Amino acid sequence: MKTKRLPGHLDSALQEAAELLQAGETVAFPTDTVYGLGAHARSADAVKKIYEAKGRPLDKALIILICDKKQLQEIASDIPETAQKLMDAFWPGPLTLVFKQRQDTVPDYVTRGLKTVAVRMPNHPVALQLLQIAGIPIAAPSANLSGHASPTDAEQVYRDLDGRIAAVVDGGPCSVGVASTILDISGDTPVILRHGTITREQIEQATGLRIQDAAGSASV
Ligand code: AMP
Ligand code: MG
Repeated sequence: MKTKRLPGHLDSALQEAAELLQAGETVAFPTDTVYGLGAHARSADAVKKIYEAKGRPLDKALIILICDKKQLQEIASDIPETAQKLMDAFWPGPLTLVFKQRQDTVPDYVTRGLKTVAVRMPNHPVALQLLQIAGIPIAAPSANLSGHASPTDAEQVYRDLDGRIAAVVDGGPCSVGVASTILDISGDTPVILRHGTITREQIEQATGLRIQDAAGSASV
């Protein structure tokens, strides 16, 4: 497969990237954290290509990126009041929220059989524009071979994935460089599953709740 290089500042390039995603191909693009490798989140065939390109273990579920809170209703159910506060405070941004999944809206390839779904709205103009044009939720882990470091610019993506994915959108370096904080709000009390730039204290302040920490005390 020849991997296309698409300049992120051109509308025509984002249009082409969006069409590839709609057609079930894999496309890498910048987000506020690291470069993501995206595929149509509602298509099992498309998501399978992410696992193949990365050599990602099949038991590791994927985060889904959206650009509009309305898209959340498509894939999540029982959205708690706390979620609204968190989205208002941190979206778009590096906070992934785990919701109960709306039944059978996301293939098992994304959630690995979990009854939940992990969702985030990235704070990056290229990612948001691409998601908007594509009009679909996009499953997107980091755009590197499994076990390698997460890429923070397009060149690092090429080095790992050239010939394995349909395209890379070059949008310059990512500003955060650290994966998103993951907060599970699908149960009775919110639990941090992974540390990131958004801290437990910030989450407690935004929600007025005490937050459990399943990811250990080390804060990144
Ligand atoms: P990565 O894409 O490598 O940054 O990893 C995504 C992270 O999201 C992994 O740690 C997954 O375990 C986590 N994840 C994805 N979906 C879910 C979910 N439904 N529930 C809990 N964690 C999830
Ligand atoms: Mg990764």
